[in-house]
Amino acid sequence: MVNGYMPLSLKEALELRAAHELVPYGGGTDLMIEGEKDVCYLFVNKIAEMKKIVDDGQYLRIGASCTFTEVLDSPLVPQLMKEAVSRIAAPAIRNAGTMAGNIGNGSAKADSVLIEYVAGAKLRLVSVRGERVVPIEAFYKGRKELDLAKDELIVEILLPRTGLENYFYQKVGARNALAISRLSFAGVLHLEDGVIRDIAVAFGAVANTVLRFRDIEHMLIGKTIAEAKKERAAFIAAYDAAINPTRGRVSAEYRKAVCLNLLRAFLDDKGI
Ligand SMILES: Cc1cc2nc3c(=O)[nH]c(=O)nc-3n(C[C@H](O)[C@H](O)[C@H](O)COP(=O)(O)OP(=O)(O)OC[C@H]3O[C@@H](n4cnc5c(N)ncnc54)[C@H](O)[C@@H]3O)c2cc1C
Repeated sequence: MVNGYMPLSLKEALELRAAHELVPYGGGTDLMIEGEKDVCYLFVNKIAEMKKIVDDGQYLRIGASCTFTEVLDSPLVPQLMKEAVSRIAAPAIRNAGTMAGNIGNGSAKADSVLIEYVAGAKLRLVSVRGERVVPIEAFYKGRKELDLAKDELIVEILLPRTGLENYFYQKVGARNALAISRLSFAGVLHLEDGVIRDIAVAFGAVANTVLRFRDIEHMLIGKTIAEAKKERAAFIAAYDAAINPTRGRVSAEYRKAVCLNLLRAFLDDKGI
């Protein structure tokens, strides 16, 4: 038997979360495979405040309990996020699985989290004590280690409204969308008057968290495409030194080689 509470408002949910030992439950697509446990759940998928997708002028605010299908159906969500989400599992899982659940599972394979890294997204975390906004990179402290207090809920994902238009995305899986990501890559480039104003590169399913190295990205920021081309070899070498894959089913050497090949393909695609 499954025990739990199903609040309909955020206020009620936060009060329950503060008062009891509860496990937040979105669509249950990760929790259900853990099997039956003697825990009490807080079902958060009926809370209206967590189901909205709104543009506040600065951020696209994606309600944490939005399912992948709802994200795909929204005209506001950028194409890059939709592309990654459309590659998650099969329709049944996308109808139930939520954005917060993908984050809360704490996996470096989570497909929507890769896009949140490359976008520089932030999370709005709320408890009865108040709220805080935490960059996604700071939220992940290690494998399954999240900066989430026992009484907090992930309530919204704050995605910068622009900057994701010029992207390159690849998910390398053994069985395409039905496979949990073996390796995933997202790169975005923002050019203004022929100058690289911003570049972001993220790798999923390689290490304990999604990887993004802002110091390496800075090598190309402020450069023209021609100048960036001259830095290309040093840029790739910097990633070669920085990426240190964890051991897994697929060898670390193979995954490092795939990472660098995807990076090269991104640079080729953008003429760098
Ligand atoms: C067959 C199958 C295929 C899959 N394929 C993929 C895939 O291709 N790519 C991929 O990325 N994932 C995949 N998954 C994993 C899973 O579907 C996703 O991680 C999904 O986003 C989980 O969302 P959920 O709402 O079901 O999470 P749940 O199972 O409800 O919760 C997951 C975790 O998040 C926590 N949580 C949920 N909501 C909140 C909240 N609001 N605040 C704080 N913590 C919260 C829960 O406590 C739990 O620890 C697959 C799963 C299955 C079963």
